[in-house]
Amino acid sequence: MDFNDTPEEAAFRQEARSWLEANAEPLAPGKRRAAPTAVEARKGLLERARAWQAKKADAGWACITWPKEYGGRGASSIQNVIWNQEEAKFDVPPNLFSIGQGMLAPTIMAHGTPAQKERYLEKILRADEIWCQLFSEPAAGSDLAGLRTTAVKDGDEWVVNGQKIWTSGAHYSDRGMMVTRTDPSAKKHAGITYFIVDMDSPGIEIRPIRQINGSSDFNEVFFNDVRIPDENRVGAVNDGWRGAITRLMNERATIGSAGGFGAGIGDLLKLARETEWNGRPAIEDPAVRQRLADFYVKLKGLEYTGYRALTALSRGTTPGPENSIGKMVGAVLRQEMSAFALELEGAAGVMTDASVSPLEGVWQFSYLSSPGIRLAGGTDEILHNIVAERVLGLPGEPRIDKDLAFQEIPSGR
Ligand SMILES: Cc1cc2nc3c(=O)[nH]c(=O)nc-3n(C[C@H](O)[C@H](O)[C@H](O)COP(=O)(O)OP(=O)(O)OC[C@H]3O[C@@H](n4cnc5c(N)ncnc54)[C@H](O)[C@@H]3O)c2cc1C
Repeated sequence: MDFNDTPEEAAFRQEARSWLEANAEPLAPGKRRAAPTAVEARKGLLERARAWQAKKADAGWACITWPKEYGGRGASSIQNVIWNQEEAKFDVPPNLFSIGQGMLAPTIMAHGTPAQKERYLEKILRADEIWCQLFSEPAAGSDLAGLRTTAVKDGDEWVVNGQKIWTSGAHYSDRGMMVTRTDPSAKKHAGITYFIVDMDSPGIEIRPIRQINGSSDFNEVFFNDVRIPDENRVGAVNDGWRGAITRLMNERATIGSAGGFGAGIGDLLKLARETEWNGRPAIEDPAVRQRLADFYVKLKGLEYTGYRALTALSRGTTPGPENSIGKMVGAVLRQEMSAFALELEGAAGVMTDASVSPLEGVWQFSYLSSPGIRLAGGTDEILHNIVAERVLGLPGEPRIDKDLAFQEIPSGR
């Protein structure tokens, strides 16, 4: 493990920092980026995020890992980590475009036609267009290849029918990338075709889902005889699984590189100092101290595991499936820390209104968001399977439907 920047990395860090200092305000000491709970923070957030993205694009600091031919700067993964670390020190809007930029654009680069690359990539980079990912369905999440939304060829168009769910940002997206079943007589991973779809196409109905944390970030999306031109197909007919795999690999990299959200251990210690617990500051109570120490130790473990991945990146290798540990442990820890904060807050812990709750409701938001984090980008159980099979070398799960024609797989329908 190597904690230090190489001379090249230090030079890159300085270059990034200089540009940020000239173009953004540093975060005040002790201040974190606007809590997502605060109503004011959400107002106009999209516009501010778009403006910041365009500014970065003009200066060559948007999507820095993209190849230069597509508007990036061909930066390495470690340079991307350095850029994210430096950007996080400034009071700038969060990147709301990571689905298009980090997951879908790489699929277009790998499998799209020259016309698709020409038409879409720059708009994604500048956030002139926002994209969503239409993969999951009511009966196809962890087992994505179980998808049932169909696309049937009709002349130069495809007619799509079915339903997607959990589609983040569909309600403000311009386009989406979707996987559909085009040959039910093929095995489940074959017979899938990948498309780009305009979200304002006739026949698309978007219904926001209200989440337990009060947000409505994702949606149900219904397709009723939606027509998609064949020129919007990405890759060959019935070969969409290849594109889906490219996207899934990039999803893990994107989610894996995202920093934590909301409050951290510093906020929890502050809360414990300021909260009264059995007639004295909570931090003086041995049981509280025990819990805090436990969280701290686990967080340090995660931090050093992260450094190991960074060292691998710095040496030009790619962290392997062991990288799943970060999300596997981090998401549970986030939930446990948030639950403990609510316990410390006592009666105020039940309030979710940012204006009356301590710390602007940040722990409430964190607690209520944490179950979603344990699901998105691979559930706890799927990550355990990955570690069991690919890190520990344990026998694989039986996958009895893998070689059956999709239409032969027993289902409730
Ligand atoms: C915040 C959030 C944002 C999301 N955004 C998007 C998006 O933009 N686009 C999109 O397409 N999808 C999105 N999703 C959906 C996400 O990809 C799925 O929720 C995820 O893949 C799990 O699928 P599922 O919900 O259908 O659960 P299921 O796969 O039905 O799983 C149900 C339970 O069974 C367990 N399970 C399933 N298979 C196994 C197995 N083989 N072994 C052991 N246990 C198993 C799971 O761990 C889980 O506990 C989002 C989800 C969340 C929470």
